[in-house]
Amino acid sequence: MHQAYDDTGWRDAELVDAFAGSLETYFDQVSRVRLQSWSKDRVVLLGDAASSTSLFGEGSSNAIAGAARLTRTLAGTVEPAAALARYERERRRIVRQHERLVPLMSHLLVPSTSGSVRLRNLLLARC
Ligand SMILES: Cc1cc2nc3c(=O)[nH]c(=O)nc-3n(C[C@H](O)[C@H](O)[C@H](O)COP(=O)(O)OP(=O)(O)OC[C@H]3O[C@@H](n4cnc5c(N)ncnc54)[C@H](O)[C@@H]3O)c2cc1C
Repeated sequence: MHQAYDDTGWRDAELVDAFAGSLETYFDQVSRVRLQSWSKDRVVLLGDAASSTSLFGEGSSNAIAGAARLTRTLAGTVEPAAALARYERERRRIVRQHERLVPLMSHLLVPSTSGSVRLRNLLLARC
């Protein structure tokens, strides 16, 4: 860690020291499971469980909008299966638009080369 972050600047040395001295370390990976359907019988997915499109914002808005749509679609229905299918159709259309941006945003915000890290930092500093 010290080698990798030796000359990266900012407060990196302090952060690496804190990391090295911590007793609890947690690593996770970002992964995605593609599902044919968001519901089965009376169980339905919403929020991140249905469509986590990005780590960089909009997840909460999507979760709230999805919950509102689900509530409206189910209200007063006598055919829950048809209502859940309608909810999924409508939400998937919106989610698909966000998903298209994920590869680009991932590369922009979490670059894999030191050159692109510098470029990202330069661009963010101008925001
Ligand atoms: C680092 C980070 C930054 C983010 N920044 C933003 C941002 O700036 N703007 C934005 O809009 N979104 C952001 N998001 C995404 C946003 O947090 C999520 O999209 C949103 O919280 C999804 O809401 P949810 O209700 O679907 O899931 P969650 O908020 O994850 O809620 C799921 C809940 O279920 C509970 N749970 C899990 N398993 C069980 C179980 N077996 N039994 C009972 N309960 C269980 C969990 O403890 C949790 O409380 C960020 C996410 C991360 C990780």
